[in-house]
Amino acid sequence: GSEMCIRDRLHISSEQTADTVLPKLTGDIVLSHVTFSYPGAAEPALSDISLHIRPGQRVAIIGGTGAGKSTIAKSLAKRLGIMHLDTGAMYRAAGKKALDLGINPADRDRIAPMIASTHIDVVFCAGVQRVFLDGVDITDKIRTQDVSKAASDIGTIPEVRVKLVELQRGIAERNSIIMDGRDIGSYVLPDAEFKFYITADVKERARRRMFDLRRSGTDGGRTYEDIEREIANRDRVDSTREFAPLKRAADAIPVSYT
Ligand code: C5P
Repeated sequence: GSEMCIRDRLHISSEQTADTVLPKLTGDIVLSHVTFSYPGAAEPALSDISLHIRPGQRVAIIGGTGAGKSTIAKSLAKRLGIMHLDTGAMYRAAGKKALDLGINPADRDRIAPMIASTHIDVVFCAGVQRVFLDGVDITDKIRTQDVSKAASDIGTIPEVRVKLVELQRGIAERNSIIMDGRDIGSYVLPDAEFKFYITADVKERARRRMFDLRRSGTDGGRTYEDIEREIANRDRVDSTREFAPLKRAADAIPVSYT
């Protein structure tokens, strides 16, 4: 269509820009307006948090699989009028390439050279993030079960993380941004002005994921127990990898609900 896509949505460089273009940016932000689509929402845990974000400041939303970090990040970004970078999509893109090439995403010897010649790019189209893999928009092809697993595996490879983190930091340098991901507070943006660590019990996360999958008709016949096991597995891989694991930054504000 005629929609124009831009690499970086906003560059907020002055108070004036913020006042005229983004009046909400300097106001108090109350997370209570985050709404979840599943029953037993997370609002109560978030209702008393308010943020005062200034131009150029960054918000890190940290959490494990299915904790609700991207839902919170998206909602907050919308209210603040700033960009939300979903870093998981980049790992998914890398994982998809490995799958397409028939390479085991956990095989460092083969993945390192692959990633060196891979071009991953993120653009924002009408406020929606799109991911390009070697010039091709693959945004709609990275939400499958296979790609989730491949992303998790390929995220253990240091060469992959170095490359993607460099990309993420570059985007954050040019923008007021909300980033969600497992290593954002501890590794990608250690000096982010706001950090939230979102947690939820594995059973609760499985329940919500099941709800989402059923609703979208993509549960693939998996049972609640399957989902719970998958989440626990991904948590384990993400927290125990050597390089930049899922970690609660010491200065992150914990947000939890059960
Ligand atoms: O967040 P999402 O489920 O899309 O992430 C897919 C996978 O990518 C995660 O399971 C994780 O292993 C990896 N990932 C990561 N670091 C990030 C974001 C995602 O390792 N910052």
